[in-house]
This record gives sequence, C-alpha cells and structure tokens, in this order.
Amino acid sequence: MKFSAYLEENYKVKINPNSMFDVQVKRIHEYKRQLLNCLHIITLYNRIKKEPTKSWTPRTVIIGGKAAPGYHTAKLIIKLVTSIGDIVNNDPLVGDLLKVIYLENYRVTLAEKGEEAEAGASGTGNMKFMLNGALTIGTMDGANVEMAEEAGEENLFIFGMRVPDVKAMDEKGYDAESYYNRIPELKQAMDQISGGLFSPSQPDLFMDLVNMLMHHDRFKVFADYEAYITCQERVSALYKKGSTFLRGLRREACTVTSSPAP
Ligand SMILES: *Cc1c(COP(=O)(O)O)cnc(C)c1O
Repeated sequence: MKFSAYLEENYKVKINPNSMFDVQVKRIHEYKRQLLNCLHIITLYNRIKKEPTKSWTPRTVIIGGKAAPGYHTAKLIIKLVTSIGDIVNNDPLVGDLLKVIYLENYRVTLAEKGEEAEAGASGTGNMKFMLNGALTIGTMDGANVEMAEEAGEENLFIFGMRVPDVKAMDEKGYDAESYYNRIPELKQAMDQISGGLFSPSQPDLFMDLVNMLMHHDRFKVFADYEAYITCQERVSALYKKGSTFLRGLRREACTVTSSPAP
C-alpha cells in the first residue's frame, strides 16, 4: 500500500495495490535483457486489448536502474520503457490491468522500498528480493543457480535456455529472424516498436534497438521469448490464487525450457 502510494505520488500513475508487482531493478544492460521484459509487456498489452474482459491478473511492471553515461543502447532501452508506459498507462481499455513504471535514479534508499514488493530477476539483486519474500523469475544463470541449489528449483520460476543450449546455439548460429517469422505475437510487438506505436512523434526512434534484436543480438532475446511468456502466464495464474503465492508455497512454480532452434 505504501509503495503504491509512493508510485502514485511520484509518477502520477494510479496503481492498483492488489496488482502483482513485477519488478526488474538492476543496471540497464543488454545482457540483463530488459528488452525481453519490454516484449512481455507489449505482448500482455496486445492480449488485453484483444480481449479486455477476460479475467487478467492485474500487473504493475516496474523497471529501474542506471545506465552508464556513454552507453547509447542502454539509454534507448530506458526510453523504450518510459515510452511503452506512456501508451499503456493512458489507454482507457487497459485501465488498471497493466501499468508500467520506470523507477528513476534507482539507488539503495529506493531499493529498500521496491524490494518489499514481489518479483525480481537475476544477479545479486535477486537474493535481496528473495530475502524480502519476493519470487524470482529468471534463467538458470548467475546467482539463480545457487538459489535453485539452496531453495530447490521448484521454488523459482526458471525459463529459457540453459548453458549447454546456448553453447549449442552458438555453434549452429543464432537466427533472430526465424523466431520473428515464426511467432506472430513477437512479430507484432517488434512491428509496433519499429512502426512507431510507442514513439508517434519520432517513429524511427527505436530502430537501433530493432536492428540490434533482429541482426546482432549477442544475448539471443528472441530465443527465450516464448518460454518467458509461458512462464509469466504461470506466474499470473499462481498469483490469482493469492495465499499460495504470498506464503511462498510454490509447488506449482514452473520450469519452461526454450524449444530448440528452428
Ligand atoms: C543489488 C543492487 C544492484 C545489483 O543488482 P543485480 O540484480 O545484481 O544486477 C544494483 N543497484 C542497486 C542499487 C542494488 O541495490
């Protein structure tokens, strides 16, 4: 309740305090894959627009973190998050089913507020989140591996490729375009970004991001897109059950692996 009030006061966005708080705070970097998060937000947005009366699990997505001063791509990622927020937060059809906040100037004093909330991503931040009772969704990578060892993989939402899958893909070659052509919702989201839906006064604003994702993405965002979306669907379904989620009894937590490269 306090955090919702803080967000409303500082970001002038009406927050549903019963919504799931989906939080990714960490430095903004391509390898942290905030862009996968952006693609999920856009996918949710499109799904809600298509079926506005379906019983969606309301979400407040919070992304925060600093970008290095000379890191153009990272700054563009921040711009994409705030631009998606401008469209989604002001769409009357969406109402309080989905809100997107970019937490400015993320630092320890702010972290203390945010980490009382509910879901994090990967690194050491995930450990701080877990200590505060949040559930982690992430790939089997970094500190998530140790957390899965200690807490059991059934207590995390693990999605996507594992180290051997990534190695195999490196050998075979990663072809982003094949995912774009095969997955209609991914194509739709990418076409909306490149078509200027989120930057109407400057339609080509995000072309550098689009070109990177399509042609030289070292972090293979598209390869984990489907698994991430599916895993997030399970997160939403479980959150709806309320007490199970909040007590952290997560026997239904899930593992969704990415299908092999086409
Ligand atoms: C913990 C922390 C980080 C690092 O987070 P990761 O998820 O490990 O990348 C960055 N900034 C602040 C303010 C933190 O508290």
